[in-house]
Amino acid sequence: GAQQKVEANVLLLGAENVGKSALTVRFLTRRFIGEYGDIESIYNHSDKIDGREISFNIWDSLYPQNCETTESITEKQLQWADGLILVYSICDRSSFDVVRQQVHLIRQAKKTSGMSPIIIVGNKRDLQHRRTVSSEEGRLLALSADCGFFEISAAETYHGVLLVFHELLDLIREARALK
Ligand code: GDP
Repeated sequence: GAQQKVEANVLLLGAENVGKSALTVRFLTRRFIGEYGDIESIYNHSDKIDGREISFNIWDSLYPQNCETTESITEKQLQWADGLILVYSICDRSSFDVVRQQVHLIRQAKKTSGMSPIIIVGNKRDLQHRRTVSSEEGRLLALSADCGFFEISAAETYHGVLLVFHELLDLIREARALK
């Protein structure tokens, strides 16, 4: 019979200016558009993956300013999300620190209600000459918190962005199968 449509709510987190919007737009349109306004929105994108219709809802969140880091992720966001993408820039160490804080916050908050799949993304891989966060550091953080890890350039290629969403979808399906 007809296969059921799969819905996946994906929450994007991370500091400002790391490329969250670029990554979202790249996934939605396959294109890179340089500048975006500061809008917080939920986008829908349907895709056929392995012959199955997948409906992604992508919440491109704004990193709150003048706000305690402990309040940077709301309970509402965590309850909504089936999976999370935490983005930093490989040439912005403070954005890596934000991801480190956020990943620990999420893992603590979710201790009782299960572990949502998380992918950590080091973006702006094209800016090697300005790198301040090594691949090793990113990989170790991901390993320590049981997250997936990719380094990508939303500016240069669609492929890396696609891999991130497909890997997250796999993890979401695994998590659902365990429930
Ligand atoms: P957000 O605040 O996290 O949503 O970040 P944006 O998507 O608005 O991107 C911030 C800035 O970084 C913009 O000027 C983008 O053009 C730029 N940018 C985003 N992704 C990349 C990338 O992979 N490489 C480079 N070189 N610049 C990027």
